[in-house]
Amino acid sequence: MSMPNPDMIGEDARKESGTATSPSHFIKELVRQDVAANKNDGRVHTRFPPEPNGYLHIGHAKSICLNFGLAAEFGGKCNLRFDDTNPSKEETEYVDSIIEDVRWLGFDWEDRLFYASDYFDQLYQWAVQLIKAGRAYVCDLTAEEIREYRGTLTEPGRESPYRGRSVEENLNLFERMRAGEFPDGSRTLRAKIDMASPNLNMRDPVMYRILHAEHHRTGGKWCIYPMYDFAHGQCDSIEGITHSICTLEFADHRPLYDWFIEQLGIFPSRQYEFARLNLTHTLLSKRKLLMLVHQGHVSGWDDPRMPTICGIRRRGYTPEAIRAFCERIGVARTDGVIEISLLEHFVREDLNRRSPRVMAVLRPLRVVIDNYPEDRVEELEAVNNPEDPGMGTRRVPFSRVLYIERDDFREDPPKQYFRLAPGREVRLRYGYFVKCTGAVKDETTGEVTEIHCTYDPATRGGNAPDGRKVKATIHWVSAAHAVEAEVRLYDHLFSRENPGDDSEGLDFTSYLNPKSLEVLTGCKLEPSLAGAGHGRRYQFERLGYFCVDSDSAPDHLVFDRTMTLRDTWAKIEKALEEKKR
Ligand code: ATP
Ligand code: MG
Repeated sequence: MSMPNPDMIGEDARKESGTATSPSHFIKELVRQDVAANKNDGRVHTRFPPEPNGYLHIGHAKSICLNFGLAAEFGGKCNLRFDDTNPSKEETEYVDSIIEDVRWLGFDWEDRLFYASDYFDQLYQWAVQLIKAGRAYVCDLTAEEIREYRGTLTEPGRESPYRGRSVEENLNLFERMRAGEFPDGSRTLRAKIDMASPNLNMRDPVMYRILHAEHHRTGGKWCIYPMYDFAHGQCDSIEGITHSICTLEFADHRPLYDWFIEQLGIFPSRQYEFARLNLTHTLLSKRKLLMLVHQGHVSGWDDPRMPTICGIRRRGYTPEAIRAFCERIGVARTDGVIEISLLEHFVREDLNRRSPRVMAVLRPLRVVIDNYPEDRVEELEAVNNPEDPGMGTRRVPFSRVLYIERDDFREDPPKQYFRLAPGREVRLRYGYFVKCTGAVKDETTGEVTEIHCTYDPATRGGNAPDGRKVKATIHWVSAAHAVEAEVRLYDHLFSRENPGDDSEGLDFTSYLNPKSLEVLTGCKLEPSLAGAGHGRRYQFERLGYFCVDSDSAPDHLVFDRTMTLRDTWAKIEKALEEKKR
């Protein structure tokens, strides 16, 4: 049976499988086999190993769900480990944000928070061990020379003239490197493997470099630092990681990790590579996201348009939706691109269930109900969430002057437009039928500034006793009771499906969507939203899902639109189902 490739959701996956609902997960299968074979005494121990050099993004969420998810499913453990081997790019700001993000996603490493820098002494001992075994040497070539000597994919490399140094000389020089006798970049410690290997990673890779830099945890203790490739595999080994899971670009590094493990005779963690997450209209590279922040294209790492965990959290995404999405896309061996509408679909599904519905008018048009008593206020009962009766009801004030959406009135309605127009009757949600009797216009601009209506007192609750029907129900807010807010509407940060594609010689910033942010001020919200706290999520009826932004203050409410109500993914799936029938 051929399994659908979940990393090709879109045309290809549909062609391959006919449906897009059964995620494959080859790593889970491998783990299941290992457990069944009692490998490592049936133990399953994974880790999530970020480098603290940026904020986590939705791609990392896939890795987090995978590592923590496997441990949970097989009764194992998952560590959080910072691979902090590069002091020049790392900061505690990143460490703190990563801890917060993994926790927010709902995962728990218990007491197993580790740092590669915790193991610097051990790594140093192992480097000495390899020197003593004749498997490592101090090299005086510059970085550029090392690159030249390395050769290419088609040409073998050349051996460094320092490769033949004696063990004693190497031990002495390495000790003096550590003692700070040499300037940055003047020497390295390299593994003595094979300059003719077809795998470039095996051509005497650098294990240690000299870097007189303060480390965010070890301070000034070290002036030599292990390379990522000399640290990563051994850190897994120290922690007894049974399944060392990483993305495909590390497949070529596996022979090197295995070589170190074998030479040192330490616990053999096994590495498994999976396809990284790619999303349409999205960049998932810390380096590029950092550029967006530094060049001011976004307001920060947590700009609600960013694919960072803190960005989508601020935007109103829920951890439940992200986990469901990661479960749904599965884990494959080959790279592909997921449509962002699939992620959005999971967010909508979750928000639809959990967020209370309220009424808000984003672009207000004043409505006067001429036959409604001037000083009367009625409290109308409104349902908080028709999907969940347990969420109860609330009271919404109704009065003579209301706001409705500008878009819900047309002086000259086109065909198929069923909302308010002169002479037309519609239902006000939870309220009455109202009929438009006329519009007031600005004399100079011709813009409609106010409309007049009459209401039918017999239609309270939304139905006419004589059985007459209306074709539209619109939302509204009582003018005297409205709370004002700023509302930020978002679209994809990149208008292009694949902003990382540089085949046209253009930088990804040229694909930034100039309309990715629209700020509306003077929006009118129903009074129950007064004082809504940061992070509270709502469905504004007919307009989408909204979340209180971190810029919000009691005297200046700010909402982000998490998402519109339109669900393109649901439409795609429905069309598929129909085709099958
Ligand atoms: P980036 O490519 O964005 O710079 P990175 O790979 O350098 O990210 P790390 O901090 O090294 O970031 O990543 C931690 C873990 O997350 C690694 O195991 C890495 O393979 C995984 N990871 C990173 N990006 C993705 C992605 N897009 N999809 C799935 N896993 C990812
Ligand atoms: Mg990395």
